[in-house]
Amino acid sequence: MGGSGTCAGVRAQLGVYLTGAIPPADRAVVVRHLASCAICRAELTDLSALPALLRRPASRAAAEAPGQDAPSGPGKGAVAAGGEAQLSRLVRSIQRRRRRRRWLLALAVFVLVAVASTGWALRLAEPPRSGTQTTTVLELDRVGGTTVLTDAEGYTLYWFGPDNPTMSACEASCTRAWPPVTAPAVAGAGVSGTLGAITRPDGSLQATYDGHPLYTATADMGPGQAKGNAVWSDGGQWHAVVVSGQLPATSPPADGY
Ligand SMILES: [Zn+2]
Repeated sequence: MGGSGTCAGVRAQLGVYLTGAIPPADRAVVVRHLASCAICRAELTDLSALPALLRRPASRAAAEAPGQDAPSGPGKGAVAAGGEAQLSRLVRSIQRRRRRRRWLLALAVFVLVAVASTGWALRLAEPPRSGTQTTTVLELDRVGGTTVLTDAEGYTLYWFGPDNPTMSACEASCTRAWPPVTAPAVAGAGVSGTLGAITRPDGSLQATYDGHPLYTATADMGPGQAKGNAVWSDGGQWHAVVVSGQLPATSPPADGY
C-alpha cells in the first residue's frame, strides 16, 4: 500500500539511502516504495542534484532543524520553490521522526549536506573538457579489432604493472607522460567493470577500474590510438585497458618510449 504516510517516512530516509549509509531493512522499504511511487522517485532525483544545499553551511542547517516545530506542515502547493524550500521540507519531515530516533536527525542532516556537495561537484563537472576537477566518464572504443576503455574524449586508458589497487607507482615525471585519470569516474554505455578511486601522494583522486589506477598516455595524439600499450617506461610496463579482444603486440612508438 503506497499510503501518504509511507511517503513521508521514505522521504526522511532518502538522504541516507543515496549515500548507502542506510540499514538494510530500511533500505528494502525505501526500494520497495520507490518502485511504486513516482513522486518519491522525483524527490530522490531532485535531492541527488540539489546544488543549493551546498551553500547552506552544515552548522546552520543542523541548528535550524531542532529549532521550531513544524507549524502546520509544509504547504503542498509550494513545491517547486527551489532547493531551500525543498530542504526545509525534508528537514521538517525528518524532524517529525526525531522523538523516536534522535540520532537519525543529526545523521540525516549531515548526509543531506554531504550528498548535496556531491551533487554540486557533479554539476560543476558536467561541461567537462577543460577543468581540472572533473568527473571522468569512461567509455568504450575500438582500436583495431579490440575494445578498450577510454576517457570521454575517446583517448585510450592504461594501467601500470607496478601499481596496486590502493597505490600508484607513477609519480613526478612519470605523470607527465602518463597523466592520471581524475576521479570520480562514472561508467558510460556498456562499461561494466568496478569503478573506484585512490588518493595519490599529492592528495588528488585517481580513478580505478577493476582495481587498476587509470592513466592516459601523452603518446596518444587522438582517439583510436594505443601507442602506450606494451610500453616499458618509468619502472614498469604499461597496458591499454582491454575490455574484449586483444591488442596486437605493438612495438613502442619511435618518440622516446
Ligand atoms: Zn512516495
